[in-house]
Amino acid sequence: MRQLIAGNWKMHCLMREAVALAEGVAAGAGGIAAELLVCPTALHVAAVAAALKGTPVAVGGQDCHAAKQGAHTGDIAAPMLRDAGATFVILGHSERRHDHHETDAQVRAKTVAAIEAGLTPIVCVGETEAHRSVGEEQSVVAGQLAGSLPTPFPGVVAYEPVWAIGTGKTATEADVEAMHGCIRRELLRLLGAAGAGVRILYGGSVRPANAGSLLALPEVGGALVGGASLKADDFLAIARAAVSG
Ligand code: PEP
Repeated sequence: MRQLIAGNWKMHCLMREAVALAEGVAAGAGGIAAELLVCPTALHVAAVAAALKGTPVAVGGQDCHAAKQGAHTGDIAAPMLRDAGATFVILGHSERRHDHHETDAQVRAKTVAAIEAGLTPIVCVGETEAHRSVGEEQSVVAGQLAGSLPTPFPGVVAYEPVWAIGTGKTATEADVEAMHGCIRRELLRLLGAAGAGVRILYGGSVRPANAGSLLALPEVGGALVGGASLKADDFLAIARAAVSG
């Protein structure tokens, strides 16, 4: 399966900057074996999708509501993202679980809505430093998977240790290998044989310098990249480190 290299632009860029960044990524995408995805803020999805039309770079949202439409001021429905040109959506990112107190049940409801709208969900899981310090990282992540994933689950999982996001700290290769193995076992338990086909991305301070070793690990199906996705050259360098097959 091709690795997926996804950029999470979070709440960065004005419109013209987002379009320029997307154009920069598209300009360097030729010859890259990995699947490429950029996730701008929802306000910029349509403009970025227009800029990327006809290129191999896909566009995704960073969140969606669980309802198709309704009285939810400030929220964005999955069909709206799809209509604007998105084909993916990140769900349950730790910043949303923290800032907006999103629960596993809410993430699952959003995931169902995304799938119904024709979006591929990227469901994020990951432990805090406190969980890891007492050896609870695998049980926490297994619980998040069980609570957040619907069955069937035609989507992607992103393992993002909370303590590694935006901190410059990266999980060790041994930590990533152990956790991705644990996630694969949980996917098989929850989804049956279909669990073998779900890509598991690693996210947390992925940079051009560490991408090659992380992406070569077993059960790593790509990367979810925050800070380094805001520079087209860095994002492309990470994508070039992806392994094909
Ligand atoms: C993220 O927010 O998904 C992320 C992995 O951020 P960073 O690469 O900056 O750690």
